[in-house]
Amino acid sequence: MYTTLINDDIYHERDVIMNKNIAVIRGDGIGPEIVNQALLVLNEAAALYGHSFTYTDVDMGGAAIDKWGSPLPDAELQKCLESDGVLLGAVGGEKWNKLPGEIRPEKGLLKLRAKMNVFCNSRPAKIWPQLAASSPLKPSVTQKGIDLIIVRELTGGIYFGEHKTDIESGEKYAEDNMRYTEKEIERIGRIGFETAQKRNKRLCSVEKSNVLDTSKLWKEVMHRLAAEYSDVELSDMLVDNCAMQLVKDPSQFDVIVTENMFGDILSDEASMITGSIGMIPSSSTGSSGPGLYEPIHGSAPDIAGKDIANPIGTVLSAAMMLRYGFDMSREADAIEKAVSDVLDMGYRTADIMSDKPTDKKVSCSEMGQLIIKTLRSNKP
Ligand code: NAD
Repeated sequence: MYTTLINDDIYHERDVIMNKNIAVIRGDGIGPEIVNQALLVLNEAAALYGHSFTYTDVDMGGAAIDKWGSPLPDAELQKCLESDGVLLGAVGGEKWNKLPGEIRPEKGLLKLRAKMNVFCNSRPAKIWPQLAASSPLKPSVTQKGIDLIIVRELTGGIYFGEHKTDIESGEKYAEDNMRYTEKEIERIGRIGFETAQKRNKRLCSVEKSNVLDTSKLWKEVMHRLAAEYSDVELSDMLVDNCAMQLVKDPSQFDVIVTENMFGDILSDEASMITGSIGMIPSSSTGSSGPGLYEPIHGSAPDIAGKDIANPIGTVLSAAMMLRYGFDMSREADAIEKAVSDVLDMGYRTADIMSDKPTDKKVSCSEMGQLIIKTLRSNKP
């Protein structure tokens, strides 16, 4: 048993309503700092609502390379597969960038996603009214509201195709293979349609069908599926246009469904227009088994170890795990409300500070404590 009780002071044994084993990957850079805050918030939610969470530490990324010589040894992967949900900070950093491809930190994450068979990544991009001033977009654009979800295919496409670097006629070349099957497109397409059904019933399928065969197949499958979801309005958009539309008028989008690499790029863009990359959670799920919950940002080595990172994306990822993984919507609502209330009170980590006189700058750990305190005081 690999148990970590983060803070004995606030972890209380209570009547158990739900007992969950959470695999915890702190990772590299700011990963440990932000995950620790999320675990403290989870501990508080468990204590307040009578649940019991057990944490199983998992080494992945640079930390695992240093310890085990591999970015995700099979024994570490197994702990994730046997858990009820996986909470991840972030992996990667300069220290490991010169290692050969197979033992780079990112390979651990790709292996984890593939072995967990989490083929769908959902990233909400919503503007928090309290942070509208942090958006780089003009108020005339943000006033219309931003509330979209990017549903990204996660285990196929160019990141999982064959990668090759060689020499031909004395010249070095590199190639990456992009491949999608109809089944892979169909299963993510269905999640796109079903997500739209639960929201405003508008689905935008994003591809590059004027150039790529994979995109032509993508479009064909999406239109075939559309017949089964007649209540959803399907539109198509080329990825380059989508990148422009996201800054010109993001209010036009409800749900975007797209392939792995396009989704990777567009979801980072969507996160920036909402204010800060540090605020956005994500979930990665498959048809069964545990889900993977992580903030969308990386390990931010530039601010690691300074206690200034924004832990909210990770805290909200933990809330997504409660809502979608454990069916604990009451607890997830409480955490999200506590975050919103703390923002209402003017507390900001450095990345979301504006020049408003009401803004009060706090550290990563202070932000965690404020969320916990508010969660506690909000409990009826
Ligand atoms: P990044 O997301 O780590 O950082 C981009 C910028 O955003 C930096 O200025 C950083 O300081 C800031 N930032 C990110 N998260 C923040 C937070 N919570 N609070 C405040 N500011 C925050 O992206 P990058 O610099 O391109 O990548 C750094 C490392 O992370 C690389 O090794 C990359 O491979 C890795 N990475 C990992 C993941 C993952 O683990 N899922 C995702 C992306 C990048």
